[in-house]
Amino acid sequence: MDKKLIKPKELKFVNSLKNKPIIIWGARMTGLGLLRFSKKHNLKLVGYVDGDPSLTDKMIGEHQIKLPSEIKNLKKEYPEAVVVVAAALKEDEIITSIKKMGIEEKNIINYSEFSECFFTIDIVGQCSLKCPSCAQSLAEIKNPMGTMKLEDFKKVIAKIKNEVDLVTHVALYSWGEPLLHKDLHLIIDHLHKEGIAAAVSSHLSIPSESQIQNLIKAAPEYLKISTSGFYPDAYNSTHTGGNVNLVKSNMYKIKYLMERYNSKIYVDVNYHLYKNNVGEDLEMMEKLCDELGFGLSTTYPVVFPVERCMDYLEGKKNGKDLSELSKLLLVNIDEGLEITKNYRNQPCRYLTNQININWDRSVPLCCVTFDRQKNSSIISKDFLKESLKSLDEKKRDHSLCSKCTKLGIPPYQLGVNLKGWDEKAKENSEIFAKKLR
Ligand code: SF4
Ligand code: SF4
Repeated sequence: MDKKLIKPKELKFVNSLKNKPIIIWGARMTGLGLLRFSKKHNLKLVGYVDGDPSLTDKMIGEHQIKLPSEIKNLKKEYPEAVVVVAAALKEDEIITSIKKMGIEEKNIINYSEFSECFFTIDIVGQCSLKCPSCAQSLAEIKNPMGTMKLEDFKKVIAKIKNEVDLVTHVALYSWGEPLLHKDLHLIIDHLHKEGIAAAVSSHLSIPSESQIQNLIKAAPEYLKISTSGFYPDAYNSTHTGGNVNLVKSNMYKIKYLMERYNSKIYVDVNYHLYKNNVGEDLEMMEKLCDELGFGLSTTYPVVFPVERCMDYLEGKKNGKDLSELSKLLLVNIDEGLEITKNYRNQPCRYLTNQININWDRSVPLCCVTFDRQKNSSIISKDFLKESLKSLDEKKRDHSLCSKCTKLGIPPYQLGVNLKGWDEKAKENSEIFAKKLR
């Protein structure tokens, strides 16, 4: 690679890794981005570790993901190895754990120090489902709908590459369903041509065989499938408008097509835990994921977006009533706010290290605000005409943030203090308590 083409921070990052065996801590999107990056720069990647046991033994490219305790063995085999922390959140906690393993500071490299921010491009401004916890289910919010043109996408990527030194991956989703974009495969191809890894998230209740086939041929590095049940009874109440049998048949199709086209994709089935789906539904989905070799991660759904939480907390009667949703949630909004209240004084992570770009090139304040009419949550009408510096300034001291942080919404929506969520969920569901025992 021509060194003149590499920007200063990218060069610094490459130099810190050159000729050394590399262990990556973090097997989600940031870590996956580094797989493509290491190939581009001929770096020697020797292993992946991640603290999430649901990822253990799954494959990233040629590497089998291990638990962090494996670092000791890898260090025995490769005494010169450095550990790269590849996470968008909780880097400090990870660095502390690595140090506790006796790894010297000079051999720990934090990816975030080289990368200014993470980019999300919501290439589709709509979803075909109406999950009750999601902003897309709120009929009273009438945001414009559409899809980003391929040409616009290319311009957005060119601007990003021009403005930041290091971009290893881009997420192609926020509130929209990327598989509704007819050019999704061309968008992924373009990212790959630019040396950038792609992340896609889909509900997969997609009837178009050709869309699925094109997606798997294009081989995004990360494919998240969001679901909430194995059988229609549970699924229909929380992924409203979707068809879980179609989802399952598409999962088989994806497995078949990955083998047929030799596509190396990390497939992560992100299972939303509700009171009515943590028994047999969850067990069956675990079995299906094992059979297909897909990862299964779980998440506690929270109330989205920021605007709905604010209305609720301020006692406003407008907006969708939360009582029906609260019956389904393992941890309701009041309990979630209580669990996360000790984390309110931390800076909001949605604000500090990410830029979101909507399908029409407008830029929202953060990925958890949704209502374009209210609160001036759009900080720029056109990403292409606004520098990152100017976006950063507009984010700073935004009136919505002071209200949002005061109400404790950011740590609640981030779901910090996982232990607290587990304990509350066990209290609220005997079936789940048995499962976690
Ligand atoms: S599938 Fe995802 S984006 Fe669509 S409504 Fe459900 S949670 Fe929202
Ligand atoms: S404080 Fe609230 S509105 Fe502001 S960036 Fe964070 S989550 Fe978004």
